[in-house]
Amino acid sequence: MKSKKFLNVIILILSAFPITGFAQNFNDSGKDFALEQKVDSVLSRMSLEEKVGQMAQFTLDVLGKGGGLYASDEPFELDPTMMDVVFGKYKVGSILNTSNNRARTTEVWENIITNIQQKAIKETGIPVLYGIDSNHGTTYTAGGTLFPQEIGMAATFNPQLVEKGSQISAYETRASNIPWTFNPTMDLGRDARWSRQWESYGEDAYLNATMAVASVRGFQGKDRNSVGKDRIAACIKHYMGYGVPVSGKDRTPAVISESDLREKFFEPFRASIVDGGALSLMVNSGIINGVSTHSDYRLITEWLKEDLNFDGVIVTDWADVQNLLSRDHIAKDYKDAIRIAINAGIDMVMEPYNLKFCDELVALVKSGEVKQTRIDDAVRRILRMKYRLGLFDRPYWSRNEYPDFGSKAHEAAAKAAADESITLLKNEGNILPLKKGARLLVTGPNANSMRPLNGGWSYSWQGEKTEEFAQQYNTIFEALQNKFGETNVKYEPGVTYKMDGQYFEENPPEIEKAVAAASNVDYVVLCVGENSYCETPGNLDELTLSENQIALAKALYKTGKPVILVLNEGRPRLIRTIEPDAKAVVQVYLPGNYGGDALADILAGDVNPSGKLPYTYPKFEQSLITYDHKPSQNLAEKMSGAYDYGARTDVQYPFGFGLSYTTFEYSNLTVDKNEFLPGDILTVSVDVKNTGKVAGKETVMLFSSDLVASITPDVRRLRAFEKIELQPGETKKVVLKLPANDLAFVNEKGKWIIEEGDFRLQVANQTQQIRCMKTKIWETPNR
Ligand code: BGC
Repeated sequence: MKSKKFLNVIILILSAFPITGFAQNFNDSGKDFALEQKVDSVLSRMSLEEKVGQMAQFTLDVLGKGGGLYASDEPFELDPTMMDVVFGKYKVGSILNTSNNRARTTEVWENIITNIQQKAIKETGIPVLYGIDSNHGTTYTAGGTLFPQEIGMAATFNPQLVEKGSQISAYETRASNIPWTFNPTMDLGRDARWSRQWESYGEDAYLNATMAVASVRGFQGKDRNSVGKDRIAACIKHYMGYGVPVSGKDRTPAVISESDLREKFFEPFRASIVDGGALSLMVNSGIINGVSTHSDYRLITEWLKEDLNFDGVIVTDWADVQNLLSRDHIAKDYKDAIRIAINAGIDMVMEPYNLKFCDELVALVKSGEVKQTRIDDAVRRILRMKYRLGLFDRPYWSRNEYPDFGSKAHEAAAKAAADESITLLKNEGNILPLKKGARLLVTGPNANSMRPLNGGWSYSWQGEKTEEFAQQYNTIFEALQNKFGETNVKYEPGVTYKMDGQYFEENPPEIEKAVAAASNVDYVVLCVGENSYCETPGNLDELTLSENQIALAKALYKTGKPVILVLNEGRPRLIRTIEPDAKAVVQVYLPGNYGGDALADILAGDVNPSGKLPYTYPKFEQSLITYDHKPSQNLAEKMSGAYDYGARTDVQYPFGFGLSYTTFEYSNLTVDKNEFLPGDILTVSVDVKNTGKVAGKETVMLFSSDLVASITPDVRRLRAFEKIELQPGETKKVVLKLPANDLAFVNEKGKWIIEEGDFRLQVANQTQQIRCMKTKIWETPNR
């Protein structure tokens, strides 16, 4: 601590002489002194009731005429009585969500938010912080640009595309008068059963961290103290371990070792705060190792606010304070639940309906059960964020300042992301790309609908309103017609989803119709997967693809026509029984509004596929595994001397897998130091050659294996990657920097440690052994 104060003094002295002309106004943790003074000055004039109001967040339906649970009258109108209660009486500081679970035009948003801001400022003098889920673009703004969902963005292995996507999402969210998104999501998607796996960047900590940092930068821009008018605040979520519920079901308890918690689950959050400068964070609704995360002082206050010096806002997830009471039974009443959450370090409560929250928190402060200093800490963070977003100067603005909303350039960026996300998993006899003029049957429940292409968080929470808003975009069938000619491409679904159903219900199948339609075509493009869903409604009892879809595939194989299996799904549904007979398998994930066009370009060979799986595609329900498992989890991998107790985990496709229409050859893996010390930076280089006939993009991935460690090491870990493009015959030397400290692990005592001994580095088929010459243990919680 002492040294930190000393640093402060030096920086202050330097600031008095602005020789370099930069950063005169900042301290060592990047705080803007002038901004902090403004925050203190506002805070000093606020009553307890006003402060508590700032910590409350309600959903828009609360302010609407006829407002109730998840609904208000249509067309939406602000109710003056409720506006008086929310802003006049309770001095509320934040509103979230759309009303009636429906996307609005930028005009409607401008109108609603201008009115809210005018009222809030009149009553409290402080602008409202409006937050929304812009989760793969502007979820709740009609006409905005929708990108692939995060799982597809991860499959691009291209952080530039992620940054660009978030930048566009920021611009279009601002065009909707909203300065804050609850995104990116970085819960590690390490359980294929989980209904939100597609909202993550997949199973790996490094990949999630890299993409999350890129996304935060895209949303917020370069200066977190002055987020420009084209950018918004990110809210990294859900902190943490949400993605590995033991039961596989949404919001159910997780059991995570201390090592994994620090080493893997925390990493994307740490990186997004330290390297990305994230301005806010949302807490995981679930329970880790028996502790409700919303009550966890250690994870919220110690790990974030103390260890990382995080100065942003920590917000609950939807109604999670109430959950401490009704669901988790750790609070005796609602007031007690508020006490627990606020004392754990929560700054803002996404209530979202119960106005009693404000009275209860005021009473808790008056009785001394919540300290005034805790309230001041929370409100200071909220005011700081409002200043950082420029809301005190401009609480609302005109949509006309955003002429690029939904522009062609934004569309092109979303299409480029979809192109690079699509992952070719099988291509027997190079059946793809398809010949020009080929006659196709396009079939399956995902063939002719925009809803499954976009998934949840699209125009509505479950994505069920997508058809209404996405008419102008091409389904897979329409895109293939555009590509191969209207008369060459026909559509007969065989299986359809119930479009008025929210989840996965299917109509009675009409498999014979699809089989009949296959009679005079050259290829069958069978589009299977899942309909859109999100959160709890997406829970599954069975990971295998639906019985109807399996039956459709089997019936089509019997026709003898070559079948191209297209997977359009939020998580890897098991395809073991139908994969062997498919000639090609293409994973499109949830590719967004341009996914149909991207797939058509790939099937026609106009785009060479370059996506790679960001998770392990399982083969069996009882054999779920991640690529970074322990050696004892899969004895099928080489292990000399281990007696065979039958641990086998066969997977459908491994993490990082993805084919191309060309081939790449790797050679000359070199490391600049065969022996190294903690703190060294290793330079790893490898030559990659395009040995095929077409240009292609390739992701070069560097993995490490710790050969002997004091606790059983993971078999492999991704440490770096770079995506390159090569012309036919071209060779590039790819140079990857690997900080030796990245090879450290967290031991059973929760300490970071790198141990003397051997490591193996691997890039594709190239390996190299290196040796760490000295053990180092970190006494600090983070390296
Ligand atoms: C989800 C969050 C989301 C929030 C606000 C919750 O149900 O878990 O991811 O940000 O709702 O819409």
